[in-house]
Amino acid sequence: MAKLKLATLWLDGCSGCHMSLLDIDERLIELANHVDIVYSPLVDVKEFPADVDITLIEGAVSTDDDLEKLQHVRSRTRLLIALGDCAVTANVPGMRNLHEVQDLLERSYRDNTDRPTRIPDQGVPALLPKSRPIHEIVRVDVHVPGCPPPADAIFYVLTELLEGRTPEPTTMTRFGK
Ligand code: SF4
Repeated sequence: MAKLKLATLWLDGCSGCHMSLLDIDERLIELANHVDIVYSPLVDVKEFPADVDITLIEGAVSTDDDLEKLQHVRSRTRLLIALGDCAVTANVPGMRNLHEVQDLLERSYRDNTDRPTRIPDQGVPALLPKSRPIHEIVRVDVHVPGCPPPADAIFYVLTELLEGRTPEPTTMTRFGK
């Protein structure tokens, strides 16, 4: 049987969800018998390929760059997995949603210094008005809560999908943990 194409995407998150994926440990070798990682921060591939079977997405959608990547990835992925509380609810990135973007930038770059500073507006992605969970932008096939989700839950979700079943990870995960 041909291997499935697996991808992961890192949006506005801390990489803790990717660390939890790696915490699958030796079971990664078992997974590698069934999937090829075709795009991820874990591999050196620059372009997201067409016809990816499964993509795990860490992080909220916080910038115009996040938004563009998410829509591109959705259009090329059969099953999209929201991995972790930031992807599922906006979580930590969403804490800034109580404030206006300009106030955040002033606070970050100007308020705490007496030196002249410039708020960067070139070469960096523009912040969206709010950080948003990915299901508010695109269709999500499976939500995997947790901050980060436990490695066992990630392994369970992937093996269920490989078997052609729809995983139900809620008994293995908890928001905020
Ligand atoms: S859900 Fe938690 S571990 Fe995952 S990216 Fe967000 S803050 Fe980091």
